[in-house]
Amino acid sequence: MDFDQFIQDTETIKKIKKRKFNLDKIRADFPILSREVNGKPLVYLDNAATTQKPDVVIESVKHYYAYENANIHRGLHHLSELATEAYENARLKVKEYINALSASEIVFVRGATEGINLVANTFCRSGQFQDGDEIIISEMEHHANIVPWQLVCEDKNIKLKVIPMNDRGELIMEEYVKLFSSKTKFVSVVHASNSLGTINPVKEIIEIAHEHGVPALIDGAQSIQHSRIDVQKLGADFFVFSGHKIYGPTGIGVLYGKAEYLNMLPPYQGGGDMIREVTFEKTTYNDIPTKFEAGTPNIVGGIGLGVALKYLRSFNLEDLMSHEKKLLDYATERLLEIEGLKIIGTAKNKTSVLAFTIEGIHPYDIGTIIDTDGIAIRTGHHCTQPVMRRFNVPATARASFSFYNTFEEVDKLHDALIKVKKMLG
Ligand code: PMP
Repeated sequence: MDFDQFIQDTETIKKIKKRKFNLDKIRADFPILSREVNGKPLVYLDNAATTQKPDVVIESVKHYYAYENANIHRGLHHLSELATEAYENARLKVKEYINALSASEIVFVRGATEGINLVANTFCRSGQFQDGDEIIISEMEHHANIVPWQLVCEDKNIKLKVIPMNDRGELIMEEYVKLFSSKTKFVSVVHASNSLGTINPVKEIIEIAHEHGVPALIDGAQSIQHSRIDVQKLGADFFVFSGHKIYGPTGIGVLYGKAEYLNMLPPYQGGGDMIREVTFEKTTYNDIPTKFEAGTPNIVGGIGLGVALKYLRSFNLEDLMSHEKKLLDYATERLLEIEGLKIIGTAKNKTSVLAFTIEGIHPYDIGTIIDTDGIAIRTGHHCTQPVMRRFNVPATARASFSFYNTFEEVDKLHDALIKVKKMLG
């Protein structure tokens, strides 16, 4: 793609001219997809772990360091103004992408993990949690939405209440409702599971939390890249995601928070930028979102993320989502042809994540063997050990699809798994 033309287009991402869905052209946007691994064309099916980057994102990183590099918000010199404008413009793009009410509700963080830690930590320090209070999470949470709450709980004696799931890997909503008590102070639930693929009814989950006067955080690490997110329509009080899973750089992510909460919460970290005035006796803090962005941020990460969102919006999101759904359906069908293969996570409403086991073969062996054919999938517990325990498996193999994947790649996965079975089965 022509980077200069792409980047000079200063229109808001909502008004970007739409491209037709053309898989060959899309794949050409991602340089890494044309490389080989172990002498075979790369088949990248580990998109739930991280997504590949289109050339416009890669170029934006290079462009920033080559032409705009300066620290932001501080200097009045030309480069500092350019960098500040680019960074704040990226914040505006995020605001538009998720339809936040204001850019001040967009806090740049390192990723989904840091976003959840920030909320857990500041909620605790704000005095909202008392000894014996309860926080509701679900059985399918990533460790990033379990451990931060346990850290908070350690010194406040707070109890985690867990929404159970059925054998398909769907949350049991009747049980969720029963978990509320007068002690419930927070609900924090994943939108789409990284190890099962389940898409949870988060709008309903949030509504029920609100009926009990309880705020809700949605972990959008696996939903932002596969669906249209409108935080106002969802009603989420907090929504977190990571840039690297939505075609942007690593080390950057977003915490969306309703202004009323962000204004109420204390800062997460102290340092430059987040202050209004510092004396040795007392420090006052900056307005949101800067109050939560102490120190020099990941400037180029923010810029790259803005470009990634703009890239996505150069398509009809529905075209991308429809291709991913077809890939998931096709892969499910093809993999089920393999004898002894069991899919873990069979929810009716699923994102393009396909986790499985093959009878008698350890998932690690599957991953290692198919890597020799250039096929990248993930094996392990996927940072969801409670999910592994629930399904009574030590680990799974997981293929996860992006809109740049092809049906031929699914066939290659199928054939490679047959080969694994012949070798080890
Ligand atoms: N939540 C979910 C559902 C995830 O899949 C991940 C990443 N695997 C995270 C949170 C954490 O994301 P990150 O490591 O980018 O902070």
